[in-house]
Amino acid sequence: MDTFMTIRAYGDNVDEALKSAEEKIKYLESIFSVTIDESDIYKINNSHGSTVEIFPETAEILGEAVKMCEKTDGALDITLYPVLSAWGFTADEFRVPASSEIAGLLEYVDYSEVSVDGQSVTVPEGFQLDFGAIAKGYTSDEIADDLRENGVKSAVINLGGNIRTLGKKPDGSLWKIAVRDPFDTSNDLCVLETGEISVVTSGNYERYFEGDDGQRYWHILDPSDGFPADSGLVSVTVIGESGLYCDALSTALFVMGKDKAVEFWRKNQDFDMILVTDLHEIIYTSGIENSFENLTEMSAEVIDSD
Ligand code: ADP
Ligand code: MG
Repeated sequence: MDTFMTIRAYGDNVDEALKSAEEKIKYLESIFSVTIDESDIYKINNSHGSTVEIFPETAEILGEAVKMCEKTDGALDITLYPVLSAWGFTADEFRVPASSEIAGLLEYVDYSEVSVDGQSVTVPEGFQLDFGAIAKGYTSDEIADDLRENGVKSAVINLGGNIRTLGKKPDGSLWKIAVRDPFDTSNDLCVLETGEISVVTSGNYERYFEGDDGQRYWHILDPSDGFPADSGLVSVTVIGESGLYCDALSTALFVMGKDKAVEFWRKNQDFDMILVTDLHEIIYTSGIENSFENLTEMSAEVIDSD
């Protein structure tokens, strides 16, 4: 998953539980990776339209992923890989593709063409999938379950900034989770006090390159035009029960921008969020009002359900 991962677990049997978690991560990486030969995703991406048999975990994440693509009206699209490759985000060989090249590749981008039937999946010729926007969230949920099954009641899982806690701190108090200030990543924007939860941030400062034109191009693309999502948001943090849900939404809400993200939250209200705009405004939802403290100089506005 191309990132650093840390798991901190407390209690008896921790060594064994951590070992099991590490094996699980390696296993998920081996079936989800776009680059590992013989991974499920590799097989799908080289299937030329034929049906591929996949492992249960791949079927599960794929089913959930397609639902999230639908729910976000395509702001999340797991078939974006051909366009991500053209920008070089998949191999760190960055370039700005011509508009005509992107337009051509967008013919192969449409999550509704992915058909999953049990453990069989079919995508049209030329289509390619990538779980970059959701794999860490899904993995954090799987690791939390795995730790729990191994008797761990208290843990913090940090998969490259995707935070997933298990239970409360060993002394029964709440966890403190810092959210970074996207304009000054050595500083905190706020510190959330919470029990068992997922906290996932997507930002345009995490992976980007500078073009010959001096412009910044980042790794979250708008599937409607194939260009870096320029929605006025600099970072999106999603707080909720499921890592997969939060990870999918952090990417999708970043693409949607402030107004659509607020509308989406009002309609669903099964998560909380913190948006930071390029005008240095913070917008956060009422569910975290009591634990939110603005540690920056930016203005902060709380959003209510109506
Ligand atoms: P990070 O990986 O930095 O935590 P995200 O969870 O937002 O950030 O995922 C970004 C990754 O998802 C990109 O590197 C790319 O592989 C993929 N991606 C970018 N834009 C989209 C999109 N609109 N829909 C689905 N996947 C995307
Ligand atoms: Mg994401």
